[in-house]
Parts: sequence; C-alpha cells; structure tokens
Amino acid sequence: MALRAYLTIDDSPSARTGDLTEALEKRGIPALLFCRGDRLEQNPAPVARGIQKGFVIGNHAWSHTRFSALPFETCVVEIEKTEKLIDAAYRDAGIARPGKYFRFPHMDRGAGGWVIDYDTVPAHRDALLKLFDDGLNISLQKPSADMLEKKEKLQEYLKKSGFTAPFAASFPFYAETEMATAIDAMFTFSTADWMLTKRHLGKWPYKTLDDLRKKMDDDPWLWQEDGAHIILSHDQEETVDTTIALVDYMVARGFEFLKCGE
Ligand SMILES: [Zn+2]
Repeated sequence: MALRAYLTIDDSPSARTGDLTEALEKRGIPALLFCRGDRLEQNPAPVARGIQKGFVIGNHAWSHTRFSALPFETCVVEIEKTEKLIDAAYRDAGIARPGKYFRFPHMDRGAGGWVIDYDTVPAHRDALLKLFDDGLNISLQKPSADMLEKKEKLQEYLKKSGFTAPFAASFPFYAETEMATAIDAMFTFSTADWMLTKRHLGKWPYKTLDDLRKKMDDDPWLWQEDGAHIILSHDQEETVDTTIALVDYMVARGFEFLKCGE
C-alpha cells in the first residue's frame, strides 16, 4: 500500500497553464484539467499542448455560473458549447479524446449548496459536510423539489451524453454515498488553493501556504493508504504556484500520482 492520488485542476486555461503543465510534466505528475469554455475559446493553445504532453481535458462548463441559477436548457448549452472546443483541442493536438468528464462550476450540481444529499447515510454526514465546507456555501436546507429535479435531470443528461466519472474512490464517505453514483467528477480532498488569492485572502480560514499544508496534515482521510484520493486544485494565474507547492508537499510525504484510468 502507498499513498495515491489523482490530481484534478479546475478553471483551466489561465495565463499560466503552460507553467503549470510544464512543472507537472517535469515532476512526472499526470492531471485532469477541467476547462471553462469561455477561457478555452480565448486561449486554446496551452490546452492543445497540454493534451500532447499527456494531460486529460475535462469540461467545466462555459461561463462558470452556478447551475442552480440557470434553467436546465441553459446548463446544457453551457456544457455543449464547451464540448465543441474540447473536441477541437484534441483535434488540434492530433490525439484521440480518452473520455468525456465533467465538473460543475462551484460544485453546484443543480441544487446549490446541497452538493449531495448529506442525509442518505447519516454516518457519513460529518465527513461530507467537512469535505464541501470550504467556500462552496454548502446548505443544510433540503432544496425545493424543482431544484432536486434539475440536479437529477443533469445527471441523466450527462449519462445519456456519454459522460462518465473519471475516477472512483473507496473511502466509505465516497463509496457508500451518492458520490459513488455521480456521473460528474467528485473529489475527496480540496487543496483550497484559491483562498490565498487576493480576492479571497483573509475571508477564509486558510491564509498562508503553511495553513494549507496543515489542512492536509489534519485531514482525517488524506493519509489513509487504502484508496486513491481525488485532489481538487486550480489553474488560475494566482493559484498555480500554490498548487505546485502543495503537490511537492504531497510527493515529499510519499504520494504517488496516478493517471486517469489507473
Ligand atoms: Zn471552477
């Protein structure tokens, strides 16, 4: 047994996607990059280069709007417009697309802060609340029937459109809850790298890189060797250095990063 993880990076591409993929490539670390359509349209070149280096590209919707705030039909347009650009990026790279993966902006899966049904397995409620309680504005209020229906419809739409979950985790809070059946890409640990950006600094509990390392140290699941983790980090101009520093910290502590499908 060893410490193992999949690295997922949201909000690509940025002005520093080239730096990020270069740094990861140098370290031999694979990653799945979830791209925003609006940014991909403006800046496709580093994504095509990333594909050639072996990185996998996923869909993070077009405009990074919360899906609970959009009609179902608009959510679909957000996903499909972005799909076209991802297909084009793979064509430009001359590489066959390995699969269709999706992560909701802000992890708003159609029902706002009710990321998943926290109550299905009461034993895992605390673990789930802790997992999502890092700026996602989680809600303990069960959402309206309309919102729950939209959340359900989005899962059905993703499934029907050929999307699949890129990874599975065996930790009980994942394997025994709704996370296990989600078509969209879930995660098991958030680096909270974005809390160090100018816009957010000081408004959240983690204010320094050391705070984020301590968040890792203190996580009840991260150091368990009986399953691979799914790590959430970001590709934004201000987060790339933080992401790399945290990946280095994990490698120094014995983590091995796995490829999609491993
Ligand atoms: Zn995002």
